[in-house]
Amino acid sequence: MEDFNKPLISLNDFDLSSIFNSAHDAVITLDINGHIIHWNSAATRILGYTADEVTDRHIDFMIPKELAFDEKADFQRVVAGGSVEHYQTIRLSKNNQKVNISLTASLIRDAQGRVLGVSHIFHDLTVQKVAEEKQAMLAAIIESSDDAILSKTLDGFITSWNKGAELIFGYTEEEIIGEHISFLIPKERLSEEDNIISKIKRGIKVEHLETVRIGKGGRKIAVSLTISPVKDKDGNIIGASKIARDITKNKEAERAIKRHATDLAVLNTIGKAISEGLEAEMILQKVTDATTQLTGAEFGTFYYNTKDGIGNAIQLFATSAAAVGSVEGFGSAEFRALFDSIFLGGKIVRIEEIRKDERYLNHAPLFDLLKVSMQVSSLLVVPVTTKGNVVVGGLVFGHSRPAMFSRNQENLVAGVAAQAATALDNAKLYEEVRALNAKKDEFIGLASHELKTPLTSMKGFLQILERNESGELNRAFIKKALKQLNKISSLVSDLLDVSKIQSGKLYLDFETFDLQTLLHEVIELVQFTSETHEIELDSDSIVLPVQADKQRIEQVIINLISNAIKYSPDASKVLIRVRKTDLEVRVGIQDFGFGIETEQLENIFARFFRVESLASHISGLGIGLFITKEIVERHKGRIWVESEHGKGSEFFFTLPLIREFAG
Ligand code: ADP
Repeated sequence: MEDFNKPLISLNDFDLSSIFNSAHDAVITLDINGHIIHWNSAATRILGYTADEVTDRHIDFMIPKELAFDEKADFQRVVAGGSVEHYQTIRLSKNNQKVNISLTASLIRDAQGRVLGVSHIFHDLTVQKVAEEKQAMLAAIIESSDDAILSKTLDGFITSWNKGAELIFGYTEEEIIGEHISFLIPKERLSEEDNIISKIKRGIKVEHLETVRIGKGGRKIAVSLTISPVKDKDGNIIGASKIARDITKNKEAERAIKRHATDLAVLNTIGKAISEGLEAEMILQKVTDATTQLTGAEFGTFYYNTKDGIGNAIQLFATSAAAVGSVEGFGSAEFRALFDSIFLGGKIVRIEEIRKDERYLNHAPLFDLLKVSMQVSSLLVVPVTTKGNVVVGGLVFGHSRPAMFSRNQENLVAGVAAQAATALDNAKLYEEVRALNAKKDEFIGLASHELKTPLTSMKGFLQILERNESGELNRAFIKKALKQLNKISSLVSDLLDVSKIQSGKLYLDFETFDLQTLLHEVIELVQFTSETHEIELDSDSIVLPVQADKQRIEQVIINLISNAIKYSPDASKVLIRVRKTDLEVRVGIQDFGFGIETEQLENIFARFFRVESLASHISGLGIGLFITKEIVERHKGRIWVESEHGKGSEFFFTLPLIREFAG
């Protein structure tokens, strides 16, 4: 085709149309005025016109107006003997589309050198343009990607490197091209690359491989890799492309989420422990353990200043995870005094490096001690301040590495400290109440014991008097006095029993006896004193052998029958129902009196509990059922009540039967 520039043969000499038509490029000839003489099939393919449609027409109609001037000038130049080569311009196609072409225009002469016309040879640039644009687009995408995109040969040498790679790994394109990929791989992970390459060689893509790579300066970077084989146009694998996404932040976020989750779990446990716990020492230990875990400290200590029962200051402290040095020294007065100087302000103290801290100068002896004997670099001290703004103590955390505690941890601990302060306040109250209670129990025990002796001797004297007195009236008075004395006596005995139960000193004296016989005796005794109620016994057994404290069981039966009489003043009957099963005997004492409201049922066996509406006109201390329950349960029996308000109650208790006799 180049021959057209300097044609040696004339168009007239040969019919060249077949050559023209087989050409890949469009070939047209024009006369020197610009009229079309020849038009080949490639020209038809590119611009749509057939040869017939254009022959003899001036070329102008297929040149866009804005290019007409330049093209005319070019044409003149060619006619004058010049040429135009690979000139990019535009032609209008038959359907009026602009078609980009690359045009070469030359003068055609005959053998004698006479000018015959002008040839225009061109090809369609559109396809090439699209490919170029696509290429440019891809290049732009690669360049603007945040991910690192690089390629390497099958031997692992880096052949391309985008901006993203530069940002993630820190090397510029110039620095890295030609380097081996192992440059970016941590030593311990080098085998990963062999694995990847062997897959790539087999045409297998490696997707989302989460691993670690090394950036400039040895920085470790968590990356997610996708590696694909690169093929040449014949499909041979010639290298690999690698997309690396920096997932350091994701990993950090993941770790942060995990950390938050554990923190939450720990906080939850502390919350629970604190709200349930009422003993200062237990709270101190739980809080210390949990906050030590939360801060990641090597040791944590909790100081708590409190007062004992008689107002002396006592210092408790709990320690957790003492991994460095010894925290024993923390208990010493010297340390305490030094810490107090920090605590006084009630402010949190967070120190990144103990010797470089501005507070070092004011507390040098303490700081030196911490550093030297306990290897503390990071220190976090969080005061525990109670409602009245009193600093009662504090949490101290240490670590041998500097800058181990963050503001976040400081806040977490401050939150826990606030909770702990409230819990300690409660614990203090509870301990005070408990101490008072213990004192009261002790007093009741002592008082009833002291009352018992004079009561017994009074009873003795009255009985002698009763025997020796012959006057009817006096005897009646003495009888009345004795009855009242018995009442006091039994109240005092009950009080003494309560005190014994409280102090765990209610001792039982077990013997084997027949409960049925005991029931008969008790019923007879109570019946003797009751003029209002008839006590009926309904039993399905003849003998009921039990091993129990006979006196205490008698006390149980008397208590329940007395209550049944006492709380059914308008009734005339108390029914005792005895039922035996294989293993136990159940005794029910039923009355037809006031009954008990449902909401009161659960309190009925509590110490000092009385139903208020009855309390004003029926005397009692509210301890009979408490003692009864204790006695029954100490015999491995059960006690409960079924009652309907206004209709009456039935109290039940069970006792295990002796095995040999049971069944
Ligand atoms: P006390 O009878 O001295 O008050 P108890 O401990 O024996 O003390 O009884 C506690 C409370 O239970 C009584 O005050 C009374 O309100 C209620 N109670 C006990 N037994 C009966 C009963 N059989 N019927 C109705 N209420 C009863």
